[in-house]
Amino acid sequence: MEQKVVEELKSIMGDHWVVTEIDSLRDYLVDETPELIRPEPGVDSVLVKPVHPGEISDILKYANREHISVIPRGGGTGLCATATDPRPSIILSLERMNRILEVDEGNLAVRPLK
Ligand SMILES: Cc1cc2nc3c(=O)[nH]c(=O)nc-3n(C[C@H](O)[C@H](O)[C@H](O)COP(=O)(O)OP(=O)(O)OC[C@H]3O[C@@H](n4cnc5c(N)ncnc54)[C@H](O)[C@@H]3O)c2cc1C
Repeated sequence: MEQKVVEELKSIMGDHWVVTEIDSLRDYLVDETPELIRPEPGVDSVLVKPVHPGEISDILKYANREHISVIPRGGGTGLCATATDPRPSIILSLERMNRILEVDEGNLAVRPLK
């Protein structure tokens, strides 16, 4: 990923939650799609781990402005490779947003701690 993108993400999130090292990224580039049919992921991606909705909003505004693809990532258990993009992307892991205040079953939504 271009350094200017990484720097911008760090300015939104702080250094610690913006990951570019390939060894740390590897598990986030693929889901549970069988290897035989899985597309090759873009290895030049950047992983971010936001915890506040405001961080996600800022990341999405930036990505939209710069036309960078964003892949939201839950457990990575999808079976049709939708968590994999061959383009360099921002992988937006939701793993830290695990403090749920309310589950709205009717709207299939959860309200996380702000
Ligand atoms: C062993 C096994 C059995 C399964 N059985 C079933 C089954 O019986 N029925 C069934 O329906 N499914 C089944 N699945 C599929 C499972 O439901 C999906 O894997 C699940 O929906 C993916 O959720 P995830 O959080 O892991 O998302 P990921 O795998 O991380 O992502 C899946 C897609 O959702 C997007 N995404 C993830 N989080 C968000 C978000 N917060 N907002 C917007 N987009 C998001 C990703 O970008 C990607 O496109 C099974 C999977 C496995 C591995």
